[in-house]
Amino acid sequence: MRLFDTHAHLDLPAASTAAERRLAVKRAKSAGIHDILIPGVSPATWSELPNIAADLRAHEPSVRIHTAVGIHPYWLGDLYNRAIPAIRDLFVEHFAMTPSGFVAIGECGLDFGRRGVAIPRARQLEVLELHIELARETGLPLLLHCVGAHALLLERMTAAPTPPSVLHSFSGSAELVQQYCRAGHYISFAGAITNPNARKPLEAARAVPPARLLLETDCPDQLPFSRRGARAIRNEPAYLVDVAEAVARARGEDVETVAARTTANARALFG
Ligand SMILES: [Zn+2]
Repeated sequence: MRLFDTHAHLDLPAASTAAERRLAVKRAKSAGIHDILIPGVSPATWSELPNIAADLRAHEPSVRIHTAVGIHPYWLGDLYNRAIPAIRDLFVEHFAMTPSGFVAIGECGLDFGRRGVAIPRARQLEVLELHIELARETGLPLLLHCVGAHALLLERMTAAPTPPSVLHSFSGSAELVQQYCRAGHYISFAGAITNPNARKPLEAARAVPPARLLLETDCPDQLPFSRRGARAIRNEPAYLVDVAEAVARARGEDVETVAARTTANARALFG
């Protein structure tokens, strides 16, 4: 089995030390994860990301480490007083410093839920618009975070042609799946789908056309339910197997089929 973790925050200091990161990638390799995409969440983390990726490649050459560059709504407070043209300049400078260093724009998006409440919605939207513009200019896919804002996001993602993008850790309905996929976008599932009592994610997983399906851990968040116990452990790419099995069960397919398809989809999308 070969799996592609399309969303793993291995770079966040809260996630791990350098040594722990290397061990996590070693365990991922043993579990059949051959590709890992690390999204960027804030300009403060961008410059370290290529070094982290290079270190992991050097220690585990058979696992392909990919990176992306974006600003997550939770980190918008870091850029409190920056005007959009100044934020664009940060991207342009970073692009110039790391040519072909990344495969996507993100993580970015809208969070109108409890955790995103500190950032005004208008600010979130203007920063999202910048990411959408950058995706159009570079032709790269977006890695989209969306909580409580699907009507608005869907509208922005279909207002003009936008490169095929990823709805990461999808938590919307089966109907939304159809609307995003009709516009050419991808749906990625994370740990929430491993909840045996979850109904909505299972219906959503069944609704995704095979060519639009992706898998991720979203580690260190979203530890799969099957790994939760008395001892608190951190989520990591090796546990992507649990997500693949849950998606396979939801779709009535075998896990090998889901693994082969999602890995082929991710490799095609991220080049
Ligand atoms: Zn994320």
